[in-house]
Amino acid sequence: MTRVFNFSAGPAVLPESVLQQAADEMLDWHGSGQSVTEMSHRGKEFTEIAARAEADLRTLLAVPEGYHVLFLQGGASLQFEMIPLNLLRGQPSVDYVHTGEWAKKAIAAARKLGRAEVNVAASAEDRSFTYVPDRADWQLSEDAAYVHYTANETIGGVEFSSVPDVGEVPLVSDMSSTLLSRPLDVSRFGLIYAGAQKNIGPAGLTIVIVRDDLVGLADPPLTPMLDYATHVKAGSMYNTPPTYAIYLAGLVFAQLLADGGLAAAEQRNIAKAELLYDAIDDEPFYANPVAPADRSRMNVPFTLADPGLDADFLATAAERGLTQLKGHRSVGGMRASIYNAMPIDGVRALVDHLRDFAAERG
Ligand code: PMP
Repeated sequence: MTRVFNFSAGPAVLPESVLQQAADEMLDWHGSGQSVTEMSHRGKEFTEIAARAEADLRTLLAVPEGYHVLFLQGGASLQFEMIPLNLLRGQPSVDYVHTGEWAKKAIAAARKLGRAEVNVAASAEDRSFTYVPDRADWQLSEDAAYVHYTANETIGGVEFSSVPDVGEVPLVSDMSSTLLSRPLDVSRFGLIYAGAQKNIGPAGLTIVIVRDDLVGLADPPLTPMLDYATHVKAGSMYNTPPTYAIYLAGLVFAQLLADGGLAAAEQRNIAKAELLYDAIDDEPFYANPVAPADRSRMNVPFTLADPGLDADFLATAAERGLTQLKGHRSVGGMRASIYNAMPIDGVRALVDHLRDFAAERG
């Protein structure tokens, strides 16, 4: 068996140890005589699996008292809608920081709902979304229900290097492509959300971490599935949860803990990102447009000096077992996603390809 180095932005590479364990347990989980994917979500076995996953996630992120951890569905995209539906608390406006494609979608969803004034407090559009607007330049509203930002723009490759200070207003963040890549002070947030299919596990699971005073205040009242209060009350089991995805995410959490937690994961991610950005910066044949301080450690877009060679670059990469390097359809070029589960050997192999390709065709 030869496994490729998969640079997909998501669904993405998962730890091989996790996949192996899942394979070993596929037919018979812990002597239960059944696969996890066949279990009732209300049975003793699955309840235990979900509780362990939640406990391990809480440990990894050191989630403080007073926060709910929810395992939902609908992707980060449904959160673009649930957040304005649930968190307005009678306030007339909401603030969003516009850093690229995913922020744009979150803003559009809030606008379409039309329940509050959507204020773009800062935007990086003036420089084609290649940087994080300086906090000092944000124009926050007096009466915002929350401030929303996209911690890592998966397409643009722009990442906040620290948590912005917005005072007492609840801070809300789309952490889809960065959650679990570094330690996080959860107490700074009102709500954090992430689709799982990057650092966490398979697609189909969405993580929401929400401060308890923000739950249950939707006005007008919401239908049950759209209301965080429903999911809090039911322990994320109001309806059938994505059981197998929760199980696999739980294996990922346990592996991360065994590997030294998020501080250790961050060190590995810094090393990988430096290796790749150094190679891109060293070779004039490649370019990454993002302001160095705001470069993503997770998603590294880059272009070739001659886009006519893109197909050739991808084909020769695939021959070396390096896959999914094609850039997002909206921007073109290349993108290497180097999430937690991408081994440094995968990044080394990509760097070798960058150098060899530039030497031969550059
Ligand atoms: N936000 C970000 C930052 C993303 O990267 C993505 C997916 N790539 C989404 C939101 C949308 O997530 P989903 O497909 O899970 O709805």
